[in-house]
Amino acid sequence: MVGLALNRDVFTFRSVLLLLMWTVVLLIPFVLTQKKCLYVTAASLLFVDGFINLFHWILLKCPLNASSIFVFLNTNFSEASEFMTIKMTPLLLMFIPYIALFVITLKRIPKLSFRSTGEIVVWLALWLSVALFFTDNIVHKRFLRLAVPDVERAVISFFKESEEYSKLKDHTLRPLDAKLTTDDPTLVVVVIGESCNRNHMSLYGYGRATTPRLQARQDILVFDNVVSANSNTLYSVMNFLTENNIEHHRPLDSCIHIFDVLHSSPYRSYWISNQAPIGLWENGVTNLVQSADVKRFVNVTSNSSMESTQIASFDQRLFAPLQTSLNDERKHKVVFVHLLGCHTQYNKRYPNEFGLFEDKGDRRTRAINTYDNSVYYNDFVVDSIFSMLRTYSLVHPDVRVSALYFSDHGENVYDEGDNCGHNYSGSIPKSNVEIPFVLWLSPSQMKYLEARHSLVDRLHAPYMIDDLFHTLIDLSDIATPCFDKSRSFINSDYDATRPRILEDGNLY
Ligand SMILES: [Zn+2]
Repeated sequence: MVGLALNRDVFTFRSVLLLLMWTVVLLIPFVLTQKKCLYVTAASLLFVDGFINLFHWILLKCPLNASSIFVFLNTNFSEASEFMTIKMTPLLLMFIPYIALFVITLKRIPKLSFRSTGEIVVWLALWLSVALFFTDNIVHKRFLRLAVPDVERAVISFFKESEEYSKLKDHTLRPLDAKLTTDDPTLVVVVIGESCNRNHMSLYGYGRATTPRLQARQDILVFDNVVSANSNTLYSVMNFLTENNIEHHRPLDSCIHIFDVLHSSPYRSYWISNQAPIGLWENGVTNLVQSADVKRFVNVTSNSSMESTQIASFDQRLFAPLQTSLNDERKHKVVFVHLLGCHTQYNKRYPNEFGLFEDKGDRRTRAINTYDNSVYYNDFVVDSIFSMLRTYSLVHPDVRVSALYFSDHGENVYDEGDNCGHNYSGSIPKSNVEIPFVLWLSPSQMKYLEARHSLVDRLHAPYMIDDLFHTLIDLSDIATPCFDKSRSFINSDYDATRPRILEDGNLY
């Protein structure tokens, strides 16, 4: 009922019906034996389920799900209490009537028995209906999806997903048929931003001058119609680094990863990251990128990914390892640079001299100001990387260099509703998925690509980064059977009519 009042969009009557059905099941031992302790056990189980559910509904306006368990388990006590003060709301008072109802339930044990003909008929009818419902769902292999209550389904999904990510550790590089289509030396640099909402970049028309350096550049292509399908790092990375996308999900340990492709070709791959390599969210990403030839994690001071977001580790720490990878004499290289970008806490994302806007005022003002400062610093980081590559290409004019900057997802900084962060309930806000997508090309690479088709024509074309796998293969001039040119944004055969269905199931 609380769910119905708080967020009608994600509330389903099915959830209530399921709990009633499970109540009937849990009461079977009590009805048959009349033992009080069995009644108390059933009531307590339902109480705990409801307690978790109520708590989650009040804090996040939706039923418990696997992603919020990932976040909660990755949070230490001080962050949890900080989160609680942020979300402290009078709605938490609902726990008083809830607990009171539980006490009454325990004190007034109902007379439920299995003696008279009437009772027997009613119970048998109830049990038969529940049994039919369960059997039907088991036969059609949808028991977990349709017959398990919200909380339990979230817990089971959480364990299933964790298992899938840990299996990634055992993913052995798969030899593929992957050939280079060029003899030119090539370098592809993929700068993966974090939580950057393009609507906070003046490069994309934001009122505050948050990206003066990128705006001053004459040598970049700025694409303004690119979105992420997912609203968190893990799901987004798992899609854009593998052949998986919103339409096709294969088990992660058996689908083709970008490193399988690169490793089967003459490329050397690098993963340089300022994100913590440990923590539940990152374990998935870390396990996936274990297959890169060279790995460098510069941010290893924290115990969890959540803790790492509280500690300042500025993205400029990535410049030195990036330069080292550029100095590598290998003829074909792909270098991934994973930024901490604009992740919460925003005021820990930039050095003092980038504090353009004051970290003062009410909660909302401070969040927007510090977020914009992180975008301002991010502008410096991305611009510096492009400049490093420009210098590199002046020294190595024979190497065709491509550098792509985009963000894994966006961030809602009170842009839509009274919310800050990239969690959501119901449908994804646009600010969570509208991301920057910027390409820097060396003159030789620009000439090479432009000879094939006009990239300028694509500046406003729709694209979703869950298909980036194909664009990366294309940028790297690799021919391999899993490559689908209609999914490569830079290909002349790119299919711009693909419907952009986001992870919430809605069309962007
Ligand atoms: Zn992210």
